[in-house]
Amino acid sequence: MKKEIIAGNWKMNNNKEQTLALINELKPLVKDAKCEVVVCVPFTSIETARKALRGSNIKLGAQNVHWAPKGAFTGEISADMLVEQKVKYVLVGHSERRQYFGETNQSVNARAKAALGAGLNVIMCVGETLEERETGKTADVVTKQTLEGLEGIEKDGLKKIVIAYEPVWAIGTGKTATAQDANDTIAIIRKAVKKLYGRNYAKSIRIQYGGSMNPGNVKELMAMPEIDGGLIGGASLRAKDFAAVVLDR
Ligand code: PEP
Repeated sequence: MKKEIIAGNWKMNNNKEQTLALINELKPLVKDAKCEVVVCVPFTSIETARKALRGSNIKLGAQNVHWAPKGAFTGEISADMLVEQKVKYVLVGHSERRQYFGETNQSVNARAKAALGAGLNVIMCVGETLEERETGKTADVVTKQTLEGLEGIEKDGLKKIVIAYEPVWAIGTGKTATAQDANDTIAIIRKAVKKLYGRNYAKSIRIQYGGSMNPGNVKELMAMPEIDGGLIGGASLRAKDFAAVVLDR
């Protein structure tokens, strides 16, 4: 049985004090969660979060990782640096990284490989823009992102990957894909995984939905057979909302 996974993406929010307050509020609320729970915090909050999460069922995540082990890459963080801080999960290819920081399927792939090489779990984000959806390109876009993002990753590596399907037009906008649309697109992503790794791996990989998921829509989304979890932005900044998503799934 796959364990569902709900991950919060705090983005560029919360200083150390706010990190501590949010985690301390969240811990008791989600202690009986049946799914895996992750919070992906800003780099500057990692140490505070690590200490605050000790002994809890919430896993520590980061929001990006560089592909090189070290060197002249100003502003970047290596996989080993994350591992040293006991980070367990890292996001790669979030649409905000693709949109504002020039991430490509190739850089996403390189980041994922470095993370896996260091023993991290990876949440790889894919998703189409509004224009791509409206011009009928969704299937092609998510298939290409999946095939290229996973290129050259061995089966053992795939076991440590979660894919997050995040339609770009649904992120931070309050618009959610219909549960049926999210389900159908995730089925397309799963088909791409099958093409690379075969049926069993495609079945067992966990694919989340992300895009304005909140306590009001989580039940309907998570009832869909293809959806194995959620990646939550805005609602993960409020302990009660994030906990409601975690417990309602
Ligand atoms: C995200 O940033 O991954 C996300 C899904 O954001 P939101 O929930 O705010 O749409």
